[in-house]
Amino acid sequence: MKASALDSHRSWVWKTILSAIPISLAVVQLWRLNHGAELGRMSTVLIALSGTAVAVWALWREYGRGEKIRGAELAHSQFLAAAETSLDAFGLFESVRDEAGKIVDFQILYINANVERLLGQSRSELLGQTLCSVTPMKPTVPMFGRFCRVIETGESLNEEFPVSYESVKASWLQTQVVKLGDGLAITFKDISEAKSAQERYAQLAEFTDSVFQNAPFSIIATDLEGTITAMNAQAEKLTGYRCEELVEKASLTALHDERELLARAIAIDTAATVEKYGFEVLTAGAADGEMEEREWTLIRRDGSRTPINLAVRAVTTEGGEVSGFVSIAFDITDRRQMMEYVTHLATHDQLTGLTGRALLQDKTVEAVEQARRYGTKVAVFVIDLDHFKRINDSLGHSAGDQLLIEAARRLTRSVRSTDVVARVGGDEFVVVMPDITSVNDVEQCAANLVARLAPEISIDEHLMHVTASVGICIYPDFASDAKHLLKRADSAMYAAKENGRNQFQIFSESMLKETAERLTMEHALRHALVNKELSMHYQPQISLTTGAVTGMEALLRWTHPKLGSVSPSQFIPLAEETGLIVPIGEWAFLTACCEGRALQVELGVDLTVSINLSPRQFQQKNLVPMVESALLKSGLSAECLQIEITENMLMVSSEHVLDKLQRMRELGVRISIDDFGTGFCSFSYLLEYQVDRLKIDQSFVRKAVADANAAAVVRTIIAMSHGLNIKVVAEGVETDEQMRFLLRRRCDEAQGNFISRPVAKAEFSGVVRSYEDHPSARIPEPVAGLVR
Ligand code: C2E
Ligand code: MG
Ligand code: MG
Repeated sequence: MKASALDSHRSWVWKTILSAIPISLAVVQLWRLNHGAELGRMSTVLIALSGTAVAVWALWREYGRGEKIRGAELAHSQFLAAAETSLDAFGLFESVRDEAGKIVDFQILYINANVERLLGQSRSELLGQTLCSVTPMKPTVPMFGRFCRVIETGESLNEEFPVSYESVKASWLQTQVVKLGDGLAITFKDISEAKSAQERYAQLAEFTDSVFQNAPFSIIATDLEGTITAMNAQAEKLTGYRCEELVEKASLTALHDERELLARAIAIDTAATVEKYGFEVLTAGAADGEMEEREWTLIRRDGSRTPINLAVRAVTTEGGEVSGFVSIAFDITDRRQMMEYVTHLATHDQLTGLTGRALLQDKTVEAVEQARRYGTKVAVFVIDLDHFKRINDSLGHSAGDQLLIEAARRLTRSVRSTDVVARVGGDEFVVVMPDITSVNDVEQCAANLVARLAPEISIDEHLMHVTASVGICIYPDFASDAKHLLKRADSAMYAAKENGRNQFQIFSESMLKETAERLTMEHALRHALVNKELSMHYQPQISLTTGAVTGMEALLRWTHPKLGSVSPSQFIPLAEETGLIVPIGEWAFLTACCEGRALQVELGVDLTVSINLSPRQFQQKNLVPMVESALLKSGLSAECLQIEITENMLMVSSEHVLDKLQRMRELGVRISIDDFGTGFCSFSYLLEYQVDRLKIDQSFVRKAVADANAAAVVRTIIAMSHGLNIKVVAEGVETDEQMRFLLRRRCDEAQGNFISRPVAKAEFSGVVRSYEDHPSARIPEPVAGLVR
């Protein structure tokens, strides 16, 4: 609508009114001419009134038309205000038709400022132009067709479409097209931002969904009551259920073991029942915004059970209200197996697969606790294979291992499955039997164990006969706790060994007494040094070639005011076990060096002084400085000092032991192997460690005269030692016959009661002199024909 319409209408009204008056006057005049003067006054008024009425009618009519025009003008201005302030782009278009009446374009009648902005062109450039000439719209594009259809059908169009024209400053538009006459009113709304947000959201949703679906663990979402609302592919795989079988149909608790849920519910609240708590058991900690993580057993669709780790977290709305839960689960079967394997490795012996020392301790404590509660007994068996070290040494470690494996198998077979069988050391096993009712049972089991171990074992084509010494202690009869139970079973095992091996011993009253005695002795030994109860005795050693006294062995003596004279075979092991051997040994060493040197001076001969050193003394850090200092203080020359070690020391010795031996050798000190033949040393070791002397163990010397085997051992030791340039001493020589035997075998030296018992320093010179003066001091002449 144009602004000038009202003005032209107004002028037309006035023209009508002004022309109505002369017309009515003219009509009156005409009437007078035709009807003459007879025309009355009344007629003149009527005619004038008619003219006026026509004019008023015309005026009225025109007024009505004017009102319409005024309304249209108002609407026009309101329309303009609305169109210009609209947030959207708006335009009015008129169809441009060809001759056939077909719409070929749309002429732009009106566009608002937003269209200018959208198209980047001014209104003056656009008004009057056609749509196809100023926009990318073409009659061939589908949208053009849809615009035409709006005009044809009168049905408005509402659609969103992407824009890919650079000239248009939007990527997405929403359009509303309404028919207006033979044209269109079109609104364009820029929805680019909303669209890209929508796209971003769709992408995010797709990403989230892809994460959800492809997560390597099972994800199950539930509502507040526990009903499953979604689950991913892994959840299907883990549970064995398909999505549609569970979603909106089942509760998460349906996948759990009811007993496990109940146990957890009771742990939270003792008065709990599954019915009362149900799903809350799974989400107990998650409701507070924390992650509730726990191991559970999942019941799969086929009823199989899988250990899982389940982490549950609450899902909250923007307002912070919990709207449901998400639970993430993964199968921990492998992890469990791995943990079990690692725990097994850590607690079991790798060679035999039996329980290890630490676990044995726990199981023994457990068994004792149980027995205490139910008033039953527990028996602990300590089993030591006899002479295992000898087998291990002669046939090699692999054979030794096979033997241990077989022994473990035999042991396991001879006990109940509830009994614990453990390997606690090289060849030491322990069996713990709970639920014992009588000592008779124990004896029977022990006899059975010994018998089962006894049959020969074939390893690498060797048939081996392995026996065992078994020590047993019973709770509560002779031990009040696990520690004493194990310790006393061990003592009983030693008693079995001392009794001749291949047997069992049950810890008894007498052993308890022995233990008590041992404790008393240990207590006394701790004070022996300070109380000056220790002394050294010396036993002469003679040359079997000259008959002269060549040296002496220093032997420790302990005389306690109450216990009397205690044998070294009793107190030395005790001193070694308690570590008391270190200060005692140090005292013995210095005393022997000083007294030995004094005797050398007294007799005027450089006698060799032999001093025993036990393995425990080699752990003493300052052993070599201690030896050096004793030599220095006593004035004894290192060449006259000989230390005696047992042959096993060379076998098991570690680097630091060998290093100490070497350093002593460098000082000039001689090394002698004591009790040779009873251990497991081989001649190669003797060569390697440059041994000076071997002392044949007294057991061989004693038996050699009557026993052909013992004689062969002695003969071999002497012959081989001479081959290696090592001197041989026979110890424990008690008879003339033994002396003759050794002479015939060309043994170098001898020591024993036949020559002299060990005596105190004060008596030593007298013993030496009387020996040399005595007729028996004359060395019997060897019988030439018997020497081989
Ligand atoms: P050993 O070193 O083999 O000492 C020889 C043992 O045989 C001594 O026993 C000695 O008294 C004994 N003996 C000597 N001649 C005869 C004999 O003709 N017949 C019999 N039946 N026995 C004889 P003892 O004095 O009881 O010592 C036992 C063990 O104690 C020693 O064996 C040695 O290993 C250890 N020992 C002794 N004194 C010391 C010491 O000062 N330090 C250390 N570490 N150990 C020592
Ligand atoms: Mg000795
Ligand atoms: Mg000896």
